[in-house]
Parts: sequence; C-alpha cells; structure tokens
Amino acid sequence: MTVHPTASIAARSAASVVTGSTPDTQVTSAAPSSTSAASIPGTPASAVITACRACTATIPSIVKASRIAWQSSTFSDMPTVAFLGLGAIGTPMARHLAAADLGLRVWNRTAAKAAAFSAEHRAIHAVTPAAAADGADVVITCLPVSADVESLCDGPDGLLATLRPGSVLVDCTSGDPATSRRLAARCAAQGVAFLDAPVSGGVAGAEQAALTVMVGGDAAVLERVRPVLAVFGKKIVHCGGVGAGDAVKAVNNALLALHLWSTAEGLAALTQAGVRPEVALDVINTSSGRSNASMNLFPERVLTRAFPRTFRLALLDKDVGIAAGVAREQKVATPMLQLTAELFRAAHVALGEEADHVEVVKWVERLTGTVIE
Ligand code: NDP
Repeated sequence: MTVHPTASIAARSAASVVTGSTPDTQVTSAAPSSTSAASIPGTPASAVITACRACTATIPSIVKASRIAWQSSTFSDMPTVAFLGLGAIGTPMARHLAAADLGLRVWNRTAAKAAAFSAEHRAIHAVTPAAAADGADVVITCLPVSADVESLCDGPDGLLATLRPGSVLVDCTSGDPATSRRLAARCAAQGVAFLDAPVSGGVAGAEQAALTVMVGGDAAVLERVRPVLAVFGKKIVHCGGVGAGDAVKAVNNALLALHLWSTAEGLAALTQAGVRPEVALDVINTSSGRSNASMNLFPERVLTRAFPRTFRLALLDKDVGIAAGVAREQKVATPMLQLTAELFRAAHVALGEEADHVEVVKWVERLTGTVIE
C-alpha cells in the first residue's frame, strides 16, 4: 500500500494541526504544544528536517521505527491511522494508538477535545474528517450511532472526499447493520474497504487495551488491519459479513440490559421481603442466576450508590433497539427482546441523555417503590 509522501510524513510528526483536505493543498503547522517531533523518544537525533511540498512548516522526514511487529505484509510500512470520535471509550482507544506511534490523526466534533488530545499525545489534530482521512491507510470511527458516521462521509470536508482506494474504514461504533451495509457500499464505490467493528469491555477494558472487537466484513480485510485493532483489542473475532459485528454487539448489550433490569426487579422484591441485597447477591453470585450485572455492576455501582457515568443509558437503549430490530427484520419471535427495548426506551426518556446505563436501576426502584442499598 503506497502512502502519499506528504501525508505520511505529516502524519508521523507529532503535535501538529492538519487543516487542508487534499494532498496537494494540505497545510501542516506546528500546534501549540510542549511536544515536538524531535523530542519523540526513539526519533534519531540526526533526524533530517525537510520542508514538505506545500507545507508551511518543517517536519522530520525520519520517523521512529515500528514498535509493533506487523504480521501483515499488506502494509509495506507502518500504516497511518486516523481516529474520529474522542468520547468516553474512543479516547482511551486513541491513546493506545498514539502510544503505538501510528502517525495518528484525531478528529472530534468538539474540536477542543482533539486539540487537547494532540497536545498531550503523539497525534495530529485534524480539523475536518477529510483532513483526518487524507493519506490515512486505516480510518477508525467511534461515534454514538451509525447515522453519525454516515454524516461524516459527505461534502468537501467529509471522509469520502479524501479516503483513497485501498484504504480501510473501520467503524467501531456500536452501529446498526443496515446503515453499515449502506456505508460499505458507498466505500466500495471508491475502492475503500469497510468493516463494522464494535467493541465491548467498557471504558476499563479500553484503558487496559483489553477490548473484544467483533468484526463484520471481508475476512481478508480484517487480517490486513488486525495489527491495528490489536493495539486496543485483546480478542478480535470475525463474525460474518458487513453488519454481523453490529448484530452480535447489539444482542450482547441486549443481554446486559435484560440482566440489569431483571436483577433490579429481583432484588427489589427480595428487599421488600426483608432480605438484604448484599446477602441476596452473595447467594446469587455463587449460583446459577449470576451475571456481570449481579457480580460487578450491582456490588460496585448500585449498593454503593456510586453510579459512575461510563456508558450512557441512551447508548444502551440504542443497542437494545438495534437487537430488537435485527430480530424483527429476520422475523424471529422475540417477545423478551422487544419488551426490553420498550422498557429501556421509557427509562432513557425518563432519565435523560446523560444518565449512565446502570441508573436504569433507579428507574426500576421508582416503579417498585424500593431502594436497593
Ligand atoms: P460518548 O457519548 O462518550 O462520545 C461520543 C463521541 O461521538 C464524542 O466524541 C462526540 O463528540 C461524538 N459525536 C456525537 N455525536 C456526533 C455527531 N453527530 N457527529 C460527530 N461526532 C459526534 O460515547 P462513547 O464513547 O461512550 O460511545 C461511542 C460508541 O461506542 C457508541 O456507539 C457506544 O455504544 C459504543 N460503546 C461504548 C462503551 C462505553 O463503555 N462507553 C462500551 C462499548 C461500546 P463531542 O465531543 O463533540 O460530543
């Protein structure tokens, strides 16, 4: 895979702002940061500083050698990676990519977050999606819903304006299969491969680079980008064609939702019957009714009343809705799944956009007139 010389060099210089959108007009300038390319550990002291074509700043032409053993021969050099979406889970994912020295460019809707990220990490702040994708081999998106990703594709500042043939768009959004299939077709029309690659493991898993990545799309394309995904993913599973990763992720999260809700109902009933919730959980967690909800979320977040905000209820509502939609599309009778989707929609509306997913327990508490503590 050839990398545009200007883009690849620019991408490999740290702490810059990419403002242009095409290789010939791209302008790279030093960002206000204490990090400079010459100070990157491992960069040879003799790094040659050259002015790149159409650039206003000088940038190093010798960059650090790979710290990652690339198993893929498809990338003739270290792939250049762009990451769009510095949210709760995207930020720690991007942090690992920055540490892996992949010439990372970052874009975020609220530009200040991308500016702060690039000031702190080895990353270039791209001011448009097009600037992020310009010259990138792998573009990773991690936004709330697939429609948000699609909205980044269009127009002169959009991803499709600069994504070049042979590159790969990897969408780590917990997306919906239909939109992913449409995105894949749009990418294919200009020779770009698409993978839906949602992740699980939460913010803690992302911080530990221990995410599970479930991938839909061409298995050969996955093998090409696997080393990039392995920077933040511990388990990477090919699930099937485009949309299969989204579908698996949605069903997984529907199970999380179901466990949260049903555990809350059960503990509310036991509390009313005079059993302390910690006693009930002690039994359940060594018995067949246990789940991640009962083993981790209730002891750590509900009984303590901590309810930290790590994964928004709005996003879990979206995931259960996708799972219910997949079942309806396949004409599979799934009354429990459909009911869970309805319950989470109501809780999301009642508790608002910023509530954490575990706060659904507060909604069950309100419905049952019980506090589980
Ligand atoms: P957040 O709500 O924390 O962050 C969302 C990110 O997307 C922000 O960077 C936000 O930008 C950006 N964004 C929102 N709307 C748009 C838009 N219309 N156009 C462009 N950018 C937009 O979400 P998370 O990071 O928690 O989740 C991201 C994805 O990962 C979701 O699909 C979620 O389901 C999934 N996920 C999340 C997990 C978690 O534990 N948090 C676990 C596993 C999967 P801005 O900064 O401007 O608001």
